[in-house]
Amino acid sequence: MDYYSSQISNLIAELARLPGIGAKTAQRLAFHIINMPQEQVEKLSQSMVSARNNIHYCKVCCTLTDGEICPICASAKREHKTIMVVENARDLAAYEKTGKYEGVYHVLHGAISPMLGIGPSDIRLKELLLRLQKDVDEVIIATNSSLEGEATAMYISKLVKPTGIRVTRIASGVPVGGDLEYIDEVTLLRALDGRVEL
Ligand code: ZN
Repeated sequence: MDYYSSQISNLIAELARLPGIGAKTAQRLAFHIINMPQEQVEKLSQSMVSARNNIHYCKVCCTLTDGEICPICASAKREHKTIMVVENARDLAAYEKTGKYEGVYHVLHGAISPMLGIGPSDIRLKELLLRLQKDVDEVIIATNSSLEGEATAMYISKLVKPTGIRVTRIASGVPVGGDLEYIDEVTLLRALDGRVEL
């Protein structure tokens, strides 16, 4: 039986599809939205649609951006010969928040996982290899310390080593299975400073 009007039920159902939103939270959010001022709801929905329409992958590092090239890749102040490889844009944001990393990034958008059927060609590895044909001094692998992150790190190091470019892995101060984005800045910087040669 439908307790609410079908419009409310629809809204609840759509919200419940978002990650981390259970049925109860979806209900709470739906009622909150219905009680919000009209213009605020319009602003919210417009920002969702316009973000979805205008944001795409940076042509160089594959992070999410609304320009051709992201501000980090476009910056002359960054050290473009040092590339830190991360799994997603949230990990990039975590390192950027420390304000201490001066190199550039490469965002894989995932990690290799045989269990989930995610292979090397399903993440942005080809784009990384293309970048390595240019002048690069070091590739810092900062994938998560989960099984998938470690497998990805191994795979990348095997690809990069024959090129003669230095390959390092951030130190294991990062808790096993820990998502980079939840780790505090001090731990992140310690992991970066203590990186080891692969
Ligand atoms: Zn970029």
